[in-house]
Formats: sequence, structure tokens, C-alpha cells
Amino acid sequence: MKPDMANLSEVEASAPKAPPEHARVVIIGGGIIGCSIAYHLVELGWRDVVLLERAQLTSGTTWHAAGLLTTPADPVQSQLANYSRALYRRLESETGQATGVIECGSIQLATTPQRAEEMRRSYRRAQSLRIECEEIGPEDVARFWPLAYVDDIKAAFYFPRDCRGNPTDITRALAKGARIGGVRIIENCVVTGVETHAGRVKAVRSTCGRIETDFVVNCAGIWAREVGRLAGVDVPLQAAEHYYMISEPVAGVHTTLPILRDPDRSTYIREEAGKLLVGLHEPAGKPWRVDGIPSDFTFGEIPPDWDRIHPYLARATERVPLLSDTGIKVLFCGPEAYTPDHNYLIGEAPGLNGYFVAAGFNSGGILVGGGVGRVMAQWIVQGHAPMDLSAVDIRRTDPWQNNSRYLADRIVETLGVVYQDHWPFRQWQTARGVKKCVLHDRLASAGACFGESAGWERPNWYARPGQKAEYVYSWGRQNWFENCVEEHRAVREHVGLFDQSSFAKFLVQGRDAEQALNRIATAECRVPVGRAVYTHFLNEHGGIEADVTVTRLTEHRFLVVTAAFTATRVGAWLEQHIDSALNCIVTDVSDGWCMINLQGPRSRELLAAVAPGDWSSAGFPFSTAREVEIGYQKALAMRLSATGELGWELYVPVPFALGVYDALVEAGRPLGLRHCGYHALASLTIEKAHRIWPFDIGPDDTPLEAGLSFTCAWNKSGGFIGREALLKARAAPPKRKLAQFLLLDPEPLLHRGEPILRDGQRVGLISSGMYGHTLRGAVGLGYVSHPDGVSEALVTDGRFEILIGNRTVPARASLRPLYDPSGARARA
Ligand SMILES: Cc1cc2nc3c(=O)[nH]c(=O)nc-3n(C[C@H](O)[C@H](O)[C@H](O)COP(=O)(O)OP(=O)(O)OC[C@H]3O[C@@H](n4cnc5c(N)ncnc54)[C@H](O)[C@@H]3O)c2cc1C
Repeated sequence: MKPDMANLSEVEASAPKAPPEHARVVIIGGGIIGCSIAYHLVELGWRDVVLLERAQLTSGTTWHAAGLLTTPADPVQSQLANYSRALYRRLESETGQATGVIECGSIQLATTPQRAEEMRRSYRRAQSLRIECEEIGPEDVARFWPLAYVDDIKAAFYFPRDCRGNPTDITRALAKGARIGGVRIIENCVVTGVETHAGRVKAVRSTCGRIETDFVVNCAGIWAREVGRLAGVDVPLQAAEHYYMISEPVAGVHTTLPILRDPDRSTYIREEAGKLLVGLHEPAGKPWRVDGIPSDFTFGEIPPDWDRIHPYLARATERVPLLSDTGIKVLFCGPEAYTPDHNYLIGEAPGLNGYFVAAGFNSGGILVGGGVGRVMAQWIVQGHAPMDLSAVDIRRTDPWQNNSRYLADRIVETLGVVYQDHWPFRQWQTARGVKKCVLHDRLASAGACFGESAGWERPNWYARPGQKAEYVYSWGRQNWFENCVEEHRAVREHVGLFDQSSFAKFLVQGRDAEQALNRIATAECRVPVGRAVYTHFLNEHGGIEADVTVTRLTEHRFLVVTAAFTATRVGAWLEQHIDSALNCIVTDVSDGWCMINLQGPRSRELLAAVAPGDWSSAGFPFSTAREVEIGYQKALAMRLSATGELGWELYVPVPFALGVYDALVEAGRPLGLRHCGYHALASLTIEKAHRIWPFDIGPDDTPLEAGLSFTCAWNKSGGFIGREALLKARAAPPKRKLAQFLLLDPEPLLHRGEPILRDGQRVGLISSGMYGHTLRGAVGLGYVSHPDGVSEALVTDGRFEILIGNRTVPARASLRPLYDPSGARARA
């Protein structure tokens, strides 16, 4: 699959050899991603664009990709993949360069009942996303694939529109289209530096000169981490070995043979010029060049590690037994860039305006390359992401993730994730224990089973004495289900203690802090000292960019609190949207404070036992905060509740945390205090229909659609970002509305992505789900859509069902929380 250099240099030949002194955009890297961004910038009318490539186009990872274009059953990724496929098909007529796209279809195989359950749920979601697919039987697989062994197949799914293409030719076509539109592509030009000024990019230095520029786009593939360092930008990715084998010619294979995806054997198989290409996503990958990528690695290959890879190849050939007699023509190993969570990294880098990244594609850069190029170009030109890209936005990462050992250890697991069982509540096994709160050992002694979020070890559930604090995964009730029941009940009936120290905390301070926050937040922030406000940060379209609480600590100081994994994003949003002329600075103080959350009807009694002061409702009203003494220590107590019960969040400076915790546990014993984990929290909060960012609310969802317009202070002086868009949208009923669903059968579970049916018609997907132990059934949130708008009656009067695999389960729908709709318990 090495490209024909004569043809490639066609693009180069007519390109200028020396760069201009100025360009509006400089793209670093001429793989599929850089070329696609260049192509789409031209499409949007930006022609003053230069693409600098260290060696030749495609010479990094793109040239050796297997070219699978199989659609993922994810709302955002399927859009990008569908667009890419359509683009690659039309590029030939546009540019004269063929792209080798063949609509061969694909078949996914499940050989265990669990895998069949997972795939069935996924294929139901795919159908809701209008991806053509159907469940087929082993005999159908045998008809498509006479060479395949089919006796072990428990379920199979056919995707007739899936394709494959030639990555080099696709990239050449994109480069050609970009060049025709005016982009200057300069090969054999290594970027060596990025100059910045006042938090913005200023110029790019390279072996062929310096270019002043407004935007830099780092598309340097496996080199992107090192290229990021040139500008002080963290791009946490690591190269790893990635393999495929090509057989000698095989009789009976043909170009439209569907791609066979066999995750239980970590393999995919497709036709390649009369031979079979067998690709691997082995469960334990091998990082490549942790010490840095060689600068002269061009159209490079990695010597295959036969001993490591042989057992996987042997497993793969079980699917097509004839392969064990057919010779191997090529065993290819090339590097690909992997990220800690198996999602790619795109968007504007936090902390450096004008610096964009698009890298770390985890074996999927060809599949989404067209779509990524388009959304990146829109992002650069329009100044904001054109759709909800939060799952792949670089602002979900933290700077500490750029740690070499962390990346090397995690990437071992990342490579194989695509073909692992995607269990609900699955936890990463590698690179754990990065961040531990000071209470960690105490919580472990109490039986905590930890999960990870943003590097933090957080108690998800507590084991009973004698029970192992370990997950046993399944699609049904997992081993911690009963533990969760007890924790949930403790909060509803007595009092529960949650460690939520991972929460991100920002101090926003200065003479103009109130003015600055009031413009960014939907709620009124001009509140008395000691008032806590639940609010959102919106984009100009009214979409929800952040979900936070803002507490006024003093006249000029506010505390902004948000979930751990949104820390970088919220910090960057504040920095970007506070007018530099204002007297207001933002400081991340997350690591200086623990947070102990006490929730339940007896929380008042418990706190009154350890802390002097008036804890009555009149003396400590809902949504207020004040400093309190607990033992020898001080803490900031905030009366808030997402669980639906009376409760207080205690923000405790780290050195005080053990003392406060010990005092609470001691005093809580006679009151039935129980340690509770994040699974119980999710069960409690979903009963209250509490929305989780970015699943239930995100940049594409407005407070009007999400039922959160109560957070909007419509008439506050100066307004708020997004207000005008919301006012316009308010004129008509929203086309989608978030509702809460309770399954009427107490047995099945909801996770995320299950289709919602109204009177038999698909109207949306479950955006988050958990078991509600008080409501006694699985509870989900999800948007109900209707082209004419969604009225209250449309939700309350419909006959709702949720599609879980092949089961249709009746559900009750509500626009108000099914648990304590008036909120009386939290305000007691
Ligand atoms: C074996 C294998 C099979 C694969 N199969 C598939 C598949 O079937 N489907 C799929 O979707 N994906 C597949 N992939 C993944 C896919 O190839 C990548 O995701 C994609 O090619 C990444 O493109 P890119 O543009 O980000 O990186 P690259 O193609 O590596 O481009 C980055 C470019 O940046 C240049 N560069 C680096 N540093 C500098 C610098 N300082 N100055 C200037 N230029 C610089 C490099 O020379 C390089 O050309 C596969 C990968 C492998 C290894």
C-alpha cells in the first residue's frame, strides 16, 4: 500500500518551495487530517492557508492504514463518519483523483451471549441514528463469507453501507482539492518552533522559514505531542504498534466481500487485491518509542514482534481456517497515536488562543478524517465548535496526562479497547492511582471499591465485610447491586457520606468578579455573600457549555465548583470569557480542598452534633453557605442537594480533612451514617432527574430543551452569553425536550443509548440511566423529539416504551422529577 511517489509529487511539483512571510492558518502535518482541514478551510473561503509537511504527504501513519470505513453507533461519531464516506466518494469527480472507496458492507460477530447483548443494544441505537443494519443468522454469515467458520456465532449484524477506501488516495484527493482552492502545501519542511504573544499564537518557525500567522493547527499524528511542546501545549498521546497481516492470494475472495469484524478474536478481516487482510486490535498493546519518535521515520515500518503477535494471529485464523494453509505475504506493523481514553483530541488548546490540535485518532483517522476536517475548519472560521464535540475535545484532558509513564502504561490498554466487551461501569485497569484524596486510605478501610475519573480514585461503592471490593461485570445486575441498594436507602432514610473531593474548584476574584461572572453565568450572581447558585455557562447559541455552582464567599470573591472531568474546560471557558479589561482573576484551587458531602434526613442532626451554630432551616437556608467549625478545624458548609434529600457539602482545606472526616464518622455511628459511593449517588440523583453534563446536557442542548430555564435570570442587568439565542428560541415550543422515564418492569436495566419509542415511533435515545431503588425500577433521562415541537401533553399523553436489545419495555414518562417533585425534602 506504499503510495506511488510519482503521483504524489504531482501535488508537490507545482507547490512553492519557500513559505510566505504570512498566512492566516498554518497547518502542521500532511496526513489525512491536515489535508482534510486544508480542504475544508478552502471550502469555507479561507485560501490564505499553508500546510507544512516534514517529509512527504501521508508519510507518517496515513499511508499504511487498512482503510476501514465502518460506521460507529454513536450520534456524533456516526455523523462524522457518514460525512467522511460521502465526501470520499465524491472527491474523485471533484478532483480527478480516485479514492478507492468500495461499498462492501461489514458484518459484526458475537460469540458470547454478553457480546450479543452489547451488539444488540448498539445495533438498536444505530437504527435510531438511521444507520442501515440488520441482525442476521450464522447461515447468512456463511452465505456472505463461505470461507468463515460460523458454528460459534451467537449473533451477527450486517451493515450494508459500510465501506473501505484507499487512505493514500483519499489524502491525495483532499490535498489536490485544497491546492486547487489555493492552499500552499510545502513538503520536506520541518516545523521547529511556534512563537506566541500574550496568550496567542504569533508565528511558526520551520526549516524553510518563519511564517507569521493567526492560527496554527497541530496535525502531526504520532509527533503531535512533541510538536505541542514547541508551543507549551499538552497533547497527551503515545504511539503504539498496530498490526495487520496480508495473506497470499485466496481463491473465491472478491472486492465486495463484507469486512468481517470479530471482536472476540480481536480481529477484522477484509479482501485486499485477491488476498485477505487480517487486522488486529489485541487486548494488550505495545507502546512504541516512549522516548520520542525518530524525526527521520518516513514511510516507516516497525519490525514485527512475531512472538507477541503470533497467538493473536492464530486466534484470528480460526475464523477463516483456510488461512492456516495460505502463506503470509506481509506481516505489517506501523505506529498509530493512541490517547488515554481512546477518544481523539481536537479543538483549540486551553491556554493558547489560535492554537488548534487534531491528533490521536486511535486507529480511526481515516474513518472520521473527512468529518473532522470539516468541523475543525468550521471551528477555526466561526470561532466555536459547530456541534457537541465534548467527547473528543482536547479540553477534556488535564496537563498531568502528558506524563510519559502514565501514557505508556495506559496505552497498553487503549489499543485493544475497541474490541473489548464494553461493560457498563467498566473501569480502566492500567495507570491507576494517579490522584488520591487524603481520605483515600480511610475510605479503602471502609470497603471502598474505587473507580477513576480525571485521574482521581473515587469510591464507586462500598463492599461489605468479607466481600471483595472488585467489579464482576455483566449486562445484568452486577455484584455491587445490593450494596448500592443499602447505600441508597441510607441516604433516603438516615444519612450518607460521599467523598467528592475530586470536584474542580475555582476562585474567581477581583473588584469586577461579580460583573464578569454575571455575564458568563445564566443565573443572577449579584447575590448576598453566602448565597450558592446553581447555574450554567452557555455558548452564543444557548447551548450548555458548563454546569456549575457559584457561591459568593465575599464581596469580591466567588467559588465556582464543577465535576472533575470538566475542570480544564470550565477553567478555559472562564479565562476566555472574562474581559481582560476587568479586574478579575481565576485560580484553580481544586487540589487544596477536599469535599465531603453529607446527604439524608439526619444530616442536620449529625452536623449539629459536631459543629456549633444554627443548623435549622431558618438558620441555614437551602442554597446558602457559611464557614463552620468542626472539631479543631474549619470548613465551608454549603446547603445543596442533588439527591433530593436534606444535605450539606463540606469544603474542607486538605490539612483539616482527616480531622473533619473522623469527627463525622464518630458522631454519625449512632445515626446510621453510611459510606456511599458514586453509583448510589447516580441512583439517587437520577430519581430527581438531575442532569449530567455532557450526557443529558451539552453544547447542543439549551436550558429550554433541558427543562433548566429556571436557572436563567432573563432580566438581569447586562444579560448573559446565549440569552438572545434563547429569547428567539422561546418564541416556539422546542423541537425536543428532556424527559424522565421509569421502566414499568422492575427487572431490566438502562445504561445509555437505548431508543425511546412513543406510540411505537422512535423519538430519541436515553442519555443516561441508572437503577432507582426508591422508584423500584430503572430510570433514564432522554430527549423526546418532534418536528412540530414537544408540548407537555406530547410527553404526558404518549405511550412510551424503551427498546433494550430485542425487548420493548413499557415506561412512564414525566417532565417533573418522579421522586419528590416539589423538592420539599431537600428544603426541609
Ligand atoms: C496498521 C494500521 C491500520 C490502520 N487502519 C485504519 C483503518 O482501517 N481505518 C481508519 O480509520 N484508521 C486506520 N488507521 C489509523 C489511521 O491511519 C490514522 O488514524 C490516521 O492516518 C492519522 O492521520 P494523521 O493525519 O493524524 O497522522 P499522519 O498520517 O501520521 O500525519 C501526520 C504528519 O505530520 C507530519 N509531521 C510530524 N511532525 C512534523 C513537523 N515537526 N513539521 C511538519 N510536519 C510534521 C508527519 O510527517 C506526518 O506526515 C490505521 C493505522 C495503522 C497503523
